[in-house]
Amino acid sequence: MPAHTNGVGKGEVDDRSILGAVAGLRAEGEAFLADLVRCASLLGAEGPAQERMARAFADLGLEVDRFTIDESALKGLRGWSPSLASYEGRENVVGIHRPREVKGRSLILNGHIDVVPEGPAELWTDPPFTPVVRDGWMYGRGAGDMKAGIAAYVMAFKALKSLGVQPAAPVYLQSVVEEECTGNGAFACLHRGYTADAAVIPEPFDHTLMTAQVGVLWVRVETTGRPAHVLDTGAGLNAIEAAYRIVTHLKALVAVWNHPDGRHPAYAAHEHPYNFNLGRIEGGEWTSSVPTRCRVDLRIGFPPGLAADAASEEVERTVMEAARDDPDLAGVGVRVEFRGFQAEGCTVDPAEPMMAALARAHEAVRGEPVRTLAATCTTDVRSFVLYGNIPATCYGPKAERIHGIDERVSLDSLADVTAVLALFMAEWCGLEAAT
Ligand code: ZN
Repeated sequence: MPAHTNGVGKGEVDDRSILGAVAGLRAEGEAFLADLVRCASLLGAEGPAQERMARAFADLGLEVDRFTIDESALKGLRGWSPSLASYEGRENVVGIHRPREVKGRSLILNGHIDVVPEGPAELWTDPPFTPVVRDGWMYGRGAGDMKAGIAAYVMAFKALKSLGVQPAAPVYLQSVVEEECTGNGAFACLHRGYTADAAVIPEPFDHTLMTAQVGVLWVRVETTGRPAHVLDTGAGLNAIEAAYRIVTHLKALVAVWNHPDGRHPAYAAHEHPYNFNLGRIEGGEWTSSVPTRCRVDLRIGFPPGLAADAASEEVERTVMEAARDDPDLAGVGVRVEFRGFQAEGCTVDPAEPMMAALARAHEAVRGEPVRTLAATCTTDVRSFVLYGNIPATCYGPKAERIHGIDERVSLDSLADVTAVLALFMAEWCGLEAAT
């Protein structure tokens, strides 16, 4: 096993003993993950899962900071996204480790506790919030995205403690709300004063190191037509068809962003990095009436380097020009609203020392060089990089069908990520005797 140093010794503890300690905690880590999956931490309902996280942090001997996101203080700031739900009863939870003496580099390990809706439960093989293990995979909503990542950093910290050592630098274990729709949880941690020499988020990106992520906007478009009896549909204006017409105009805008000419270099090799999703639609009153009103919720990817307000202005302009110029939309009322993600894209410098340290830990565990990933989604990395000036990336387990039916995470992969994070933490922070 190679010995890593950053000028701070690991003392008696070498890589082999760290890997042994991680292996010894495997069953406990899986049980903890199952506990988290059982908490249906959907948007607005993250409270009980955060309760569990606070207990886990306290059990590690960490100081626990629980706080409610202060919307009124943050909502004017760049990086904030318009929220969708009240923050009452769903706190962020941070476990704080303070070394006896700071010798190494500080670290944030961040994970989001919120999960996306499970969809039609009857399509799942097992109930979505009942964790089930089959053939080395744990199934359940959130198992992969990203409760396994949270279990990994908790167990990585615990593995070091079990060897009688601890990081020789401040470490902040963050469990945040609302990554899946605004990112305001991580953003609020930053504004509470949490900063470090690096941040790692174990999102389920299959052992890749993330080097870029796209921007994401959530947009709501509402159309108002004119009701009429279907015996004379020409007298009415169909709000649902109008909404769909606007969707085609917006798809054309996203096609321009995706055009290979002038595309952001991080995504040069990508076929279609900025994706458009018509996520929700609601409209109409009666099967035999021309619908008066329709509302669509859209998720639109956009290039890194384009500011969120510039991207949203382009979207709004596209919609308003369509409403003005497209004859199919004549007479239709159109309203655009931005709620949820106003998330700018960002890139991560592969030359950051933190990237090299993670790559070394990956290679020690997996026996092969790490691959990099330019992600076609957003993550909380952007808050650290863009607004905190903290080098940050994602490195996490292999999961399948996240946001889909029968989401699952590989338990071998969870064990490997735990080992990588433990080795990385030991190298990055250095070690001292545990208090
Ligand atoms: Zn995630």
